[in-house]
Formats: sequence, structure tokens, C-alpha cells
Amino acid sequence: MPLFRSLVLAIARHPTVERLARETPFLVPLVTRFVAGETMQEALAVARALADRGFTTTLDLLGEDVRTPTEAAAATEAYAELLQAIARCGIDATISVKPTHLGLRLDPELARLNLERLARLAQRLGGRVEVDMEDSSTTRKTIELFDRLHCTYGDHLQLALQSYLYRTEQDIERAVERGWRIRLVKGAYAEPPTVAYPSKAAVDAAYRRHMEALLEYGRFVAIATHDDAIIRVARGFARRIGVGPEKYEFQMLYGVRRDLQDALRRAGEPVRIYVPFGRHWYPYFTRRLAERPANLLFLLRQLLPRG
Ligand SMILES: Cc1cc2nc3c(=O)[nH]c(=O)nc-3n(C[C@H](O)[C@H](O)[C@H](O)COP(=O)(O)OP(=O)(O)OC[C@H]3O[C@@H](n4cnc5c(N)ncnc54)[C@H](O)[C@@H]3O)c2cc1C
Repeated sequence: MPLFRSLVLAIARHPTVERLARETPFLVPLVTRFVAGETMQEALAVARALADRGFTTTLDLLGEDVRTPTEAAAATEAYAELLQAIARCGIDATISVKPTHLGLRLDPELARLNLERLARLAQRLGGRVEVDMEDSSTTRKTIELFDRLHCTYGDHLQLALQSYLYRTEQDIERAVERGWRIRLVKGAYAEPPTVAYPSKAAVDAAYRRHMEALLEYGRFVAIATHDDAIIRVARGFARRIGVGPEKYEFQMLYGVRRDLQDALRRAGEPVRIYVPFGRHWYPYFTRRLAERPANLLFLLRQLLPRG
């Protein structure tokens, strides 16, 4: 899988491939399966519909790697509007931000100011900002940024950690020590074997270790996966050690394993759906393709001439 992922992501980065993908109408059904729409209104409508079915949500305005402070300011402003709109709607929804969307790669201090503005607003409105984790070139800076702001904004902030990284073992210890709320994911980027486990089996084993440590000793863990086996283990483990839903929730991506989302909800488990929206869907979409060969095959079948 890591090899398949690296290959798909490398091809997808090519400007011609990106241009073709953006222009082809055949892609629309596959993109709209994973992306809730282009506007905040469309995303809020999806969040309301999911709330009616018993799901909470986290809304992600798609975008990453901004090139100027002005773009970072525009993303921050859009996220501030989103936090206010969520509060007005009265739904249980958080926002999810990528540090490089707020300017982390340009200047960590700029990203801190932007994230702090959102954290302050979330604190005032009783909301929460979830911080996504991006590729490993940003991990250290993202964790430093989160650590600094967590001292002031506490549970109004939540951090994603990726089990495929070797360093996450220590990051979990730090999270437990500092009382951070964590979203645990396997990891979606193409990483070299010098920083990340190269096999799926090793990533899955690490995920189970991290999940059990966070359920047992952590402040709160969002178990963000569509992996049936891991979800089964998590539910059994939580029950055995007497941990209830005040200390965990399951999180899944919009459009992925809807059957499992519904089944967990019916079983009375807390499930939060990650709902991405916006015009900059391409990098997010390619990561979803790279997670599953069947998605890519479906896409290729749409692109090939019929007859
Ligand atoms: C709520 C949420 C937030 C996330 N945030 C981040 C983040 O901040 N940083 C980050 O690096 N990654 C993030 N991810 C992505 C994550 O790292 C994985 O790449 C992704 O969840 C796939 O891994 P899995 O745990 O579902 O397990 P896998 O073993 O990859 O998949 C288990 C099963 O889920 C289904 N499945 C998984 N992916 C897909 C797909 N794309 N299309 C269709 N079916 C699929 C398949 O049935 C598969 O057999 C997030 C994931 C979730 C659910």
C-alpha cells in the first residue's frame, strides 16, 4: 500500500494530470462522493442533514500550502465565518484546519497568530478547532504550535497524530502528559521508510498500540479510521477498561464506509463525520484515491472510451 500511495500521489502532482482531472466532467460523481460542495452553505446543509441522522461533524475548508500571507489571512477569515455560522446553526460541529493553510510553511509565527485567532473565537463561542496533521516536513512545527496554544485554549483545540510515523510513540506520551485531545489517524501522505512504517501491518499494529494507550491514559481520543478490525478492538477494549463515550468518539470521512458509519450509530456509538468542502479539492481527492486501488480503477473506467 505505501508503494501504491507514493506512486498515485507522485503521478497526481504532475501539472498535466491535475489540469486533466480538473477539466474532466467524468470526475464529478467521484469528487462529490468525498467533497460536500464548494460553499460554506452547502457544507452546513450536509452537516445539518447528518445531525438529523445522529452524527456530529467536523467541517474542513479545503486548502493547503498557501503561497502568501494574504491567502493565509483569507483562509483564517473564512474559518472564522464558519465558526460563527456553526454557532448560529446550533449543531455539534467542529472545524478542522491544516496548519499550512494558515501559513505554517511561510512563517510559523504567522500560522500561530492565525490559529490563535480561531482558537480564541472557538473559546468564546464554545466551539473547537481540530488541527489536521500534514506531511512529515510539518510535524514538529505543528506540534510546537499546538503545544503553545493548548496552554491557553485547552480543550477548544484538538490535534491529529499519525500512527505511521515512528515519532508518534513519543508524541502520544507527550499528549497524555499534557492532557491533549487527540484525533488518531493512520496517516495519508507518501512518507519515506526513514520516518514512517513501510508496511500496512506495522501501521495497523502501531495504531492499535496508540489507540489503547490513549483510551487508557489519555484525555480524549477521536478514533479516526474505517478499519472494521480496529474499530472492533477499540469497542471491546473501551468496554473492558470501563471507558465510556465521554472519552472517545469514532470519526470517519464523508463518503467513506457509509454502511459502517450507520451501523456504529445504530449501535449507540458516537460518530463524527469529517466533511470537506471548497474549491481546492484536488490534493484531498488524490489522497482518497491513493488510499484505495478500487477508487482509482473506478476513475480510470470513467476516463476510458466506452464501446
Ligand atoms: C476523520 C478523519 C480525519 C483524518 N485526518 C487526517 C489527518 O489529519 N492527517 C492524515 O494524514 N490523515 C488523516 N486522515 C486519513 C487517514 O490517515 C487514512 O489515510 C484514512 O483514514 C484511511 O485509513 P483507515 O484508517 O481508514 O484504514 P485503511 O486500512 O486504509 O482502510 C480500512 C478500510 O476503509 C475503507 N477505506 C479507507 N479509505 C478509503 C477510501 N479513500 N475510499 C473508500 N474506502 C476507503 C476500505 O474499506 C478499507 O478496507 C483522516 C481520516 C479520518 C477518518
